Amino acid sequence: MSRFWSPMVAGLTPYVPGEQPKTADLVKLNTNEHPYGPSPRAVEAMRAELGDSLKLYPDPESTRVKEAAARACDVCSEQVFVGNGSDEVLAHAFFALFQHERPLLFPDITYSFYPVYCRLYGIEHLTIPLSDAFQVRVDDYARPNGGIVIANPNAPTGRVLPLSEIERLLQRNTDSVVLVDEAYIDFGGDSAAALVGRYPNLLVVRTLSKSYALAGLRVGFALGDEALIEGLERVKNSFNSYPLDRVAIAGATAALDDHEWFERSRAAVIEQREALTGALEARGFEVLPSKANFVFARHPAQDAWTIAAGLRAERVIVRHFKLPRIEQFLRISVGTEEQHARLFAALDSVLAASVVGVS
Ligand code: PMP
Repeated sequence: MSRFWSPMVAGLTPYVPGEQPKTADLVKLNTNEHPYGPSPRAVEAMRAELGDSLKLYPDPESTRVKEAAARACDVCSEQVFVGNGSDEVLAHAFFALFQHERPLLFPDITYSFYPVYCRLYGIEHLTIPLSDAFQVRVDDYARPNGGIVIANPNAPTGRVLPLSEIERLLQRNTDSVVLVDEAYIDFGGDSAAALVGRYPNLLVVRTLSKSYALAGLRVGFALGDEALIEGLERVKNSFNSYPLDRVAIAGATAALDDHEWFERSRAAVIEQREALTGALEARGFEVLPSKANFVFARHPAQDAWTIAAGLRAERVIVRHFKLPRIEQFLRISVGTEEQHARLFAALDSVLAASVVGVS
């Protein structure tokens, strides 16, 4: 707290990202990074950019990335907005599209950055409870609102809504923007990108952090009607002209165009997710059906926080949220076969040693 702060800064509740540990030799399964490296073509394109060209500003429009995203998602480049990670894209979308009289709606359990943006921009919001099985019930959103945000698949549950349900939501909700955050869609869901062009109030937000294994590059994008994109551009150009640097533009373009790498690597993640689910179930865990690159699991007899702390002591880190309804769950990112073997060994010793039951 400082007397030099603008008054609203004291009232902010910043988002706390998962730990990025400084120590080596940890099995890091806590922030849903891709277990395999990015496309070698993307790495090569970034290497080629490292040189004299860096003395020049990048293209403020990131045109090449927009064109590559449009090719990858089968929309036109005028329907694409790009930003410095999808967190920045979301921030601009909240600012540009959700500051209205009526409250923004999103599930009670979802990506915890959404309420943070609401606080930052003074957006009133209402949380809509997921079902007992942690599913979004589209009918519950049929109420006056200034916008709706659905993460699909949802985080941290991993549960997916079929595209027909997203479309039903759009058909009923025509007076405000429906933002579908598809950070994890490439691991098994059907993208609402196919509906862009049919619904002028649909904004689909994507990222290269997960399925393209480029979390460190910070590239995200949004797909939507040209008028929505123009609104986002107005906000972006009032904030930062160059959200993507030259290296990011080169790497993102090449990654989006490397379909072969993309298909191979996402299939490998899906295969590992199913193996992880089976192995956790074999150890007594209840695992929610996931279409993401993580699973959300609880043990019927062992306290989640105790398990997470025990795993940490064994140099395996997973994510635990001390939040109502989900505090007995662990979110475990899909890793490599080797990382899973270390997770299972650690888990077996933690479960055998732990005597603390769930009350
Ligand atoms: N949306 C969801 C649902 C997420 O889980 C994340 C990752 N924390 C993001 C958006 C943001 O990802 P990034 O900024 O790396 O694109």
